[in-house]
Amino acid sequence: MRIDDLTRTYVRVALDHPLPTLFDYRCDAALLPAPGMLVSVPFGKRHVVGLIAEVTAHSEVPPDRLKSVAGVCAACPPLSGHWLQLAQFAADYYQRGIGEVALPALPQALRDAARWARLLAPEEHYRLLPAGRAALPDALPARASALRRLAAALAAVESLPAADARALHPKAIATLEAWQAEGWVALDVIDSAAPLRSQHHAAQNSTLPTLTDEQTAAFEAIRDAQGFAPFLLHGVTGSGKTEVYLRALAALLAANPQAQALVLVPEINLTPQFEAAFRARFASMDDTAIITLHSGLAEGERARNWFAAHTGRARIVLGTRLAVLASLPHLSIIVVDEEHDPAYKQQEGLRYSARDLAVWRAKQLGVPVVLGSATPSLESWWQVEQGRYKRLTLSRRAVADAALPSVRLIDLEDERRRGRASVEGLSGPLIAALKTRLERGEQSLVFLNRRGYAPQLACDACGWVAGCPRCSAYVVLHKPERALRCHHCGWESRIPRSCPECGNVDIAPLGRGTQRVEEALASAVPGARVLRIDADSTRRKGSAQALFSDVHAGEIDILVGTQMIAKGHDFRRVSLVGVLNADTALFSHDFRASERLFAQLMQVSGRAGRAGLPGEVLVQTRYARHALYHALACHDYIGFANSTLAERRDAHLPPFVYQAMLRAEGRTLDASLTFLQQAAGALADIPAAARVTVYDAVPLTIVKVMHVHRAQLLVESASRAALQATLRAWQPALRTIKGVLRWSIEVDPLDI
Ligand code: ADP
Ligand code: ZN
Ligand code: ZN
Repeated sequence: MRIDDLTRTYVRVALDHPLPTLFDYRCDAALLPAPGMLVSVPFGKRHVVGLIAEVTAHSEVPPDRLKSVAGVCAACPPLSGHWLQLAQFAADYYQRGIGEVALPALPQALRDAARWARLLAPEEHYRLLPAGRAALPDALPARASALRRLAAALAAVESLPAADARALHPKAIATLEAWQAEGWVALDVIDSAAPLRSQHHAAQNSTLPTLTDEQTAAFEAIRDAQGFAPFLLHGVTGSGKTEVYLRALAALLAANPQAQALVLVPEINLTPQFEAAFRARFASMDDTAIITLHSGLAEGERARNWFAAHTGRARIVLGTRLAVLASLPHLSIIVVDEEHDPAYKQQEGLRYSARDLAVWRAKQLGVPVVLGSATPSLESWWQVEQGRYKRLTLSRRAVADAALPSVRLIDLEDERRRGRASVEGLSGPLIAALKTRLERGEQSLVFLNRRGYAPQLACDACGWVAGCPRCSAYVVLHKPERALRCHHCGWESRIPRSCPECGNVDIAPLGRGTQRVEEALASAVPGARVLRIDADSTRRKGSAQALFSDVHAGEIDILVGTQMIAKGHDFRRVSLVGVLNADTALFSHDFRASERLFAQLMQVSGRAGRAGLPGEVLVQTRYARHALYHALACHDYIGFANSTLAERRDAHLPPFVYQAMLRAEGRTLDASLTFLQQAAGALADIPAAARVTVYDAVPLTIVKVMHVHRAQLLVESASRAALQATLRAWQPALRTIKGVLRWSIEVDPLDI
C-alpha cells in the first residue's frame, strides 16, 4: 500500500440530479468525511453541493475517472443517520433519487459553497428609527441619488442586511454609521451561534383555560403515549384542538429538556395565529426556541431557522409542509393540524404528502403523532377503523355557549319558481341575513371558490369566448386589474373593447368570481364595509396578514373570499357564513371532489358562531336534496365518512387500493398518448405488474398548458408492495422511451 492511499478515502455523494444513483469522489481523509456532511464537488464543468451518503475504502469507478471533493462544510454539523434514512425512504417511496429529496430540503444558503464561510457569522442589520423616518430623505442633498436609494431601501423593509446595503453603494456602511450617530438608524446583530438566553419568565398558569373533559382525555392520552403512537384528533370546528396541542407539547417539552416538537399547518397564513398562541403559552422559552419554517421567509431567516432546528436550539418548529423534512435531532412529537388539507401534498418536483411523511417519521423515531381535523381524510379515518390509529374525539365547541352553527339550504330552483329577486347571484334570503348582521354589528363571511371577476368573457352575437393562446383554457376577467388572465400559465392581456371575431361591442362577463361578488355586495348591502381576501388581493408579502387583522379588529362587516378564508382562522365575531356556487364540485369526475367539498364546507361553516354568538350558515344550491348537503346540515361527518368509504370500497377506490399516476408532457397530444401507450406496453415485462391494473392513457381536462400537451396513465393495485416494485422496475424502461418533453410519476395522486 502506498502512503498516498492512507490519506485517501472515498465518499459516495447524493446530488440533486435526476439519475437515482450516488456519485463517487476521492476525499482527503484529513477532511474527516462522514455521512451527512455537505461537500462541494466538481460535476461536469461546475462545482455543486452534495451530501455524503457513505464513506468507503474502495470505489468501483476507475481511478482516472474519479475526481476529488473540493471542500466540506465545516460550519454545518452532519445530518443524522435518521434524517438520511428519512430522505432515502421518501426517495424510494416517491420514485426519486435521494439527492432530489435531500438537497432541495436544505436552505438555499447551504447549497452554495461560496456562502459557507459566512453561514454562522453574526449578521448585521440596519433598521430605520422613527427619527430617521421623519428626517430622511429630506435631509439629503437633492442630487445624492445613491443616498436616496439607500434611504428608500431602508424605509421599504423592516431591517436591511448589511450585505444588501453594501450592494447598493460601496460607501453605504459609512453612511449608515453616520446616520446611526444621528440617531436615525439602529444596528442589530443577529448571532445564530450565540448561547441561548436563560429561561427567566415563570409559566403563566393562571391564564390557562380549564380543559373540557374531552380535551383532558385527549391531552392525557397523548401525554401518556409510549413509543410510536398515531392519534387522530377528530374535533369539531372550535372544539379547542389547538389547546390540546399546546398542553401535549408543554408536557413533553417539560419532561425532556432537549425534546423538539414539529407542528405543521396547511397554509402560510395560519402560521402567525399559531405562532402567537405558541409564543404566548411558551413565554418562558427563549425567543429562538420557537421558530417557523415556510416558503414566505426571507432566505437568510429560513437558513437561520433551519439551523436552529438542526442544532437543537429550536424546541418548537412551526411550519408548512416543507418543514416535515427539517432536520430535528431530538424530535419527540409531531402535530399535523387540518390533516385532511390537500395543501399537504406537494404538487411539483418531489410530490410528497407531508402528512404521510410525518407519520413515517414518528414511526421511525418511536414518538407520538397527532393528526387533527374536523373532517379527517378518508385515508386517516380508515386507519382508525382498522385500529391502526387511535381516535380522540372532541364533539363539542370549547367556549361555553358556543354551539355549532345551524345550516340552512337556500333552494335556488325554488327561489326562481317563486319569482323571488336576486342580485348578481346573491339570493333574497342571503341578502336579508347579511343586512340583519350589519344592523347587529356582527360580521359575515361569503365564501366562493373562484377568484377574479368572471371566469369567462363572451360575445353574445357570435359565441366567441376569450381564451388563452398558450393553453386550452378560458381566461379569467380581472376587473380591478383591468386584465384578462390565464390561471394556468399566467398569460395576461388587456380587456378588448369589442369582440375580436365579429366586432360586436356587447361582450359580457359570464359567471362570477370573488371580485364580482365583492362589487355586488357593496350595492346589495349598502353601508357594509366589504373586504375581499383571495390570492389576488394578497399578492404582496405581508398583505394577507394585514387584511386578516382588519377582520379580527372588527373593521370589516362582510368578508368575501376563496378557501383562504375558510381554513382554521379563529374569527370571534362572525355569525353568518354564506356559501355561493358550491354545486359545481358535486358532479366532478374526480372521485375525491365530494370529500374535498364536504371538508371545505364544514371548515367554512366552522368560522361561524365561535365565540358564543349564535352562528348561521346559508348554502345557495340547485340541489337542495343532495346527500352531501344533508350531512352538512346535520354536522354529520361520521355519516358522510362511513357512506363515502362504503362507496369507495364497492368501487375499488382508495384507500382500498393504491394508485400512482404516470404523466407525460409532449409537443402534441399524440406524442404524449403514444409515450403512455408504450409505457403501458413495457409493463408486460415486469413480473410484479401482474398484480397491477393499468388504465387507458387519457388527456388531462385542461390538455394544453403553455403549448405543452398533457396526458396521464393511472396504475393501481390492492398491494402497495406490488405497486412499488412495479414502479421501481418500470423507470429504467421509461427512460428509454423517447418522444415527450417530460414525464413524471406521482405516487398517491390526489387529483385524478
Ligand atoms: P379548533 O382548532 O378545534 O377549531 P380552536 O383551537 O381554535 O378550535 O379553539 C376555539 C376557541 O376556543 C379558541 O378561541 C380557544 O381559545 C377556545 N378554547 C379552547 N379550549 C378552551 C377551553 N377549555 N375553555 C375555554 N375556551 C377554550
Ligand atoms: Zn362576436
Ligand atoms: Zn394559459
